Amino acid sequence: MTVKKIAMKHKKKIALVAHDNKKRDLTEWAKYNRDLLAHHAVYATGTTGRVLEQELGFEITALQSGPLGGDLQIGAKIADGEIDFLIFFWDPLEPVPHDPDVKALLRMAVVWNIPLACNRTSADFMISSPLMDEDYDRLVPDYDAYRARKIKRNESH
Ligand code: PGA
Repeated sequence: MTVKKIAMKHKKKIALVAHDNKKRDLTEWAKYNRDLLAHHAVYATGTTGRVLEQELGFEITALQSGPLGGDLQIGAKIADGEIDFLIFFWDPLEPVPHDPDVKALLRMAVVWNIPLACNRTSADFMISSPLMDEDYDRLVPDYDAYRARKIKRNESH
């Protein structure tokens, strides 16, 4: 399969999402990395965004709350190239009503090959990468072949 390059600018479009039991963890992490995050454009699901904006003191683009569609909004932005970095502290010990949306969001991150951290250690390694402040071409399969695939049509039509 051929691949395409998608340019990530040195100023990244970062989405931050945390389930309720993980919000404290994400807030601590974000406060510790406040100055690094401030160089980038930060997006978040509704409640995560509200909490983080209070703690960090800079503007965050808050979307809908996760269970009300926020995860899907972030997934759609990844597909549209409007978000290129995801920190998502989901809760492995508690079921959530929007579990299909969680799965969809994680799937979009993989489909579009964006950096994805689901726990604090991964987030630490990612944010301290020298690539954070560089342009970077991420490689994505050339989905044109998939788009152009032949679809069998029903013979009776
Ligand atoms: P919230 O959503 O930031 O609105 O709590 C997070 C989520 O459940 O995905």
